Amino acid sequence: TTPASGSTDPAVGSTDPAADATPLIQLESVHKAFGDLHVLKGCDLEVTAGEVTVLVGPSGSGKSTLLRCINQLEEPTAGRVRIAGVTQGYAEQPLPDGRWQKLTTAQIAHQRSRIGMVFQRFHLFPHMTALANVMEAPIQVLGRSKSESRDAALALLERVGLADRADHYPSELSGGQQQRVAIARALAMDPELMLFDEPTSALDPELVAEVLAVLKELAEGGMTMIVVTHEMGFAREVADQVVFMDDGMIIEQGTAEQVIEHPRSERLKGFLASVL
Ligand code: ADP
Ligand code: MG
Repeated sequence: TTPASGSTDPAVGSTDPAADATPLIQLESVHKAFGDLHVLKGCDLEVTAGEVTVLVGPSGSGKSTLLRCINQLEEPTAGRVRIAGVTQGYAEQPLPDGRWQKLTTAQIAHQRSRIGMVFQRFHLFPHMTALANVMEAPIQVLGRSKSESRDAALALLERVGLADRADHYPSELSGGQQQRVAIARALAMDPELMLFDEPTSALDPELVAEVLAVLKELAEGGMTMIVVTHEMGFAREVADQVVFMDDGMIIEQGTAEQVIEHPRSERLKGFLASVL
């Protein structure tokens, strides 16, 4: 059954037969307020599967809040976020009476498990080796066997160039290595989408390149990614689309060429002058 046409229900379109054409991520007029503080002021964004979106903007413009709404760490005050056509926070199918059902916290956690997120700070478990950090969630959350999880984790550590560090504890790794373990850990959940929130901002400058190289390789492997970063070289080289946010709004978006080389607004010109 298809959702009632003309309905304002949140998940309309989730059973669209032209599923191939549905963007992996769709933000429709997303607002987010914390009390009186209106942080997101109507953001519209689409990300096609397999594409890399680089999100830039001054500190406090709402970039992290936008990612957190996509990942359901925050609930939009208005508007909706759809992943593969399904509205975040709502059941995939309507109830028999046609109403759309809000999900429980446990169901939301399950939805969230499809999205990997990597933060500025790595948040590795300090008492576990790199390998154990990567193995943990697939065992605990996906119910995988230990041996299956170990094999997958070793392959992922290899992929991020850390096969020889599997038995090291986080305190024995550099910041760049810890961040690469954090990326492997997120990938271990087989996410359909990866969100990176300033993944290199906490790193010493000489460690930035090794983390960006991992992101670039992931992008080349076809992963859908949204990356918040001030690394304009990375944006130029890897981004399919660059999105500039300021004051809770998306001000400009387009290819790296359009946004970085040919900014139109004074706000974007000013921002680029501050980071380039
Ligand atoms: P950015 O990532 O672009 O630096 P953020 O999304 O972190 O911006 O923050 C945007 C604004 O929202 C800031 O003014 C910040 O203080 C505020 N903010 C973010 N999260 C919260 C929260 N949980 N409660 C109150 N204010 C918040
Ligand atoms: Mg932020």
